[in-house]
Amino acid sequence: MGGADGNGVLPDIKGFIKSSFLDWDGMVVSVIFLPGCNLACRYCHNWSIVAEPTVHPTIPWSVVKEHLVENSDFIDGVCVTGGEPTIHDGLPNILRELRSIGLRIKLDTNGTKSNVLRGLFSEGLLDYIAMDLKAPLDQRYADIVGPCDIEAIRESVCLILESGIGHEFRTTVVRGIHDHSVIEAISSSVTPEGNLVLQQFVPERARDADYRKILRFERDELLSLAAAARPFVKRVVVRGI
Ligand code: SF4
Repeated sequence: MGGADGNGVLPDIKGFIKSSFLDWDGMVVSVIFLPGCNLACRYCHNWSIVAEPTVHPTIPWSVVKEHLVENSDFIDGVCVTGGEPTIHDGLPNILRELRSIGLRIKLDTNGTKSNVLRGLFSEGLLDYIAMDLKAPLDQRYADIVGPCDIEAIRESVCLILESGIGHEFRTTVVRGIHDHSVIEAISSSVTPEGNLVLQQFVPERARDADYRKILRFERDELLSLAAAARPFVKRVVVRGI
């Protein structure tokens, strides 16, 4: 564990970006990376922090906190990402620490820990949430991520939509997996109140060697997939074109 502060034991921090313009639309944020994950996505682009967290030095919370406090006028918020942050019992503690500094908080999640999300929402610890929706909510999900609890993912979708905070559901689109019918099935699970982001797959960073050979979609193809999603959701954004 990454130590303790006024709010209890904190998870290890395995990466820290001081300022990013890319991780929360329209905001300047710092980014905190927590290790490990309960899934094993074949296209994971951050596999080292998932599978080999010990090779990454732990960054003391005191160092992160000092930077955040000193730059709280410049930074709009903090993005907590991973790996999968919700697997850590100490996640609420680090979010409370961020709150005590007065920072806005975005969480990236794979949505498999709906019980954790429920607690974070009820305590008002999040201002924005980005949840992966990797496939239609059926047996096709496990083809990409390995064994997973589809009902928990479905419940997380509902919790996010009910929470009223800013959100996005994100699908990394992979040639050979995500075609128009798959995108329609994913976006229909988001409901008309949901925001969907289709993001470009980065083959060279994929965990699975077979995935590294897949050609990424062209711009026109991505826009066409976005058009397939548009009738089902409130808003569609394409990233990485
Ligand atoms: S959920 Fe995210 S961090 Fe976990 S294996 Fe999948 S892509 Fe990697």
